[in-house]
Amino acid sequence: MCFGVRDALRKTQQVAAAEPVTVLGQLVHNPEVSEQLQALGVREGRLEEVGQSATRQVVITAHGAADVQRKAWSEAGHAVVDTTCPLVKKAHGALGRLVEAGYFPVVVGKKNHVEVRGLTGDFPGAVVIETLADLDDLPLSGSLGVVSQTTQPLAWVERVVACIRERRPHGEVRFIDTVCQPTKDRQEALEGLCQRSEVVIVVGGHNSNNTRELVTKAASLGAIAYHVERASELEARWFDGVTDVGVTAGTSTLDETVDAVVARLRSMAAARTAAPLRAQPLLR
Ligand code: SF4
Repeated sequence: MCFGVRDALRKTQQVAAAEPVTVLGQLVHNPEVSEQLQALGVREGRLEEVGQSATRQVVITAHGAADVQRKAWSEAGHAVVDTTCPLVKKAHGALGRLVEAGYFPVVVGKKNHVEVRGLTGDFPGAVVIETLADLDDLPLSGSLGVVSQTTQPLAWVERVVACIRERRPHGEVRFIDTVCQPTKDRQEALEGLCQRSEVVIVVGGHNSNNTRELVTKAASLGAIAYHVERASELEARWFDGVTDVGVTAGTSTLDETVDAVVARLRSMAAARTAAPLRAQPLLR
């Protein structure tokens, strides 16, 4: 679990112990974390439904929000606890500086992801590039300022920036790399893991962007990759004739979930009489 998610979780648990609290969205995209918070009485609300919270205290998630949304919740009389990851804040700052300097705002990321909606929320005209087809939405003239969602693969973001520059050989395109370091580290480590493993298990929420990016990258590197949220989802048939299994996890996955996956793999291996299966935890 990355420091941004860990800190957001700790802060929410602390405030929930003192006063009832509503998290505006999913604190992190991990069902086990959501279950833990529900057990503490933490409610879940919607960032977009300003003022529609039964609790005075509300939490902005690690994915962040637009300033305009933060302000609207405060003005509606709520105490806003902000757990936005500092690296998401850095991306907001980078985009804000580009706009102030006169650049047209461009974000490389998933259009409907909460972090991207937060990034563009203060700049309603911003263009989000999710696929290369979205390049057609860019304005035909003027300087472009580009940042990315923090959990996008850097290689993809750089490819998009190169395509933008190719289309605008005479226009200025300024790119600030806002992919976060934990995402870069995982993506890079995955390359080594795929070389050593016949099958790669990626542990994390099914709606976690960085987890899904790890699955996509493992598959693009030629590995057979499976995405599981928890140990009970592992299927013995995935490992028929397999001896080396790699394990990695998204940045919002609990340590105990990864431990449980590795333990189940080891017990599946132990149950075999031939071809022992070795589980290689990558990031521990
Ligand atoms: S994935 Fe990166 S940006 Fe997101 S919470 Fe973790 S460290 Fe922060």
